[in-house]
Amino acid sequence: MRRIFLLVAVVLVSVLGITFAAHSAEAAFSDRAKEMAKITGVRIGKTDGNVRIVIDSDRPVSYQQSVLANPTRIVVDVQNAWIAPEAKKNTAVDSPFVSGVRVAQFDATTVRIVVETSVGKGDYKVFSLDSGKPRIVMDFGGSPAGNVTKPPRDTEPAVIPSLPSEADEDEEEEEEQDARAKDQIDRDLDAITGLKGRKITIDPGHGGSDSGAIGPTGIMEKSVTLRVSRELKRLLEAEGATVILTRTGDTEVSEKGASATSVEELQARCDVANKAKADIFLSIHADAFTNREVKGTTAYYYTQGTKQSKRLADCVRTALIDSIGTIDRGTQTCNFYVVKHTDMPAILVEISFISNPDEEKMMNSAEGVKKIAQGIADGIADYFG
Ligand SMILES: [Zn+2]
Repeated sequence: MRRIFLLVAVVLVSVLGITFAAHSAEAAFSDRAKEMAKITGVRIGKTDGNVRIVIDSDRPVSYQQSVLANPTRIVVDVQNAWIAPEAKKNTAVDSPFVSGVRVAQFDATTVRIVVETSVGKGDYKVFSLDSGKPRIVMDFGGSPAGNVTKPPRDTEPAVIPSLPSEADEDEEEEEEQDARAKDQIDRDLDAITGLKGRKITIDPGHGGSDSGAIGPTGIMEKSVTLRVSRELKRLLEAEGATVILTRTGDTEVSEKGASATSVEELQARCDVANKAKADIFLSIHADAFTNREVKGTTAYYYTQGTKQSKRLADCVRTALIDSIGTIDRGTQTCNFYVVKHTDMPAILVEISFISNPDEEKMMNSAEGVKKIAQGIADGIADYFG
């Protein structure tokens, strides 16, 4: 009897010990990811044949640069960082100085940017700007933007948005006041539910030839985003909203199908919202990371987006986390194409991590999909008040 009791005690202690160790390991991984910088985007601009590459991150980063020969490649390793799945990974550049840019998670804590170039040592420059939005800037060509200490605001190529001038801000404020007044009138007319009469475009991320991220058991991001979007449409329409999905099946949105470039495909999604003159735009995605322990929900809006976009991101993130109980990874700014090229308040939601076995399972279950859609719908209702 005593022996059995002892055995039970030993087993119990071991199980508890292992469970405890697993939990602390998971907590440690999540904490570590929280302390890492997220590379949110890579932008490439050309002026007078010169090429500027801007790497955006959510916090200041340190990096090491090196040069590889045959062909010449400039390598920048960003330390203690990870790359957003939505960031563009490979870009061909049509320029005499740079032929391509590749970005990848090199190891667990390093994001590597490789620039294929033909320029010599004196003809390129790499520097970081930590004031305002942190970024690493790489200039290639005849006259790289001057000195490192001065933010190259005046020399920024047209394709890369410069900081808004004061006049723009005033205009934006006026527009926002108008929008607020209009919102108030709408609310007075429609005090029963804030969703009634709203036009909402939902973009199920990826689709067709682009599966998006793939979970440990093979669940594809494109299927999760479509299922969630369909359920979300149902819930919002029940509240009197008009909902337009950018895609309703496992297809590309662009008429060119699988042969569309990534920009054409993303622009097609923006076109759906812009042509419909939707009140808001939401792109639905699932996150992924090399470390399978990492979990959580993130909402994104465009770096130079409006206060309404930020508020929409906050409302949706908060309500979604209330519904599915994941880790809060905050509202972040980004340069993702779909939130930048849409005319209305626009956000991109990373529901949770499809690379994490638990979150993959949750996102692939009928109950999980319902909870996710309900959370997002609640957030949208909060936004419209
Ligand atoms: Zn995605």
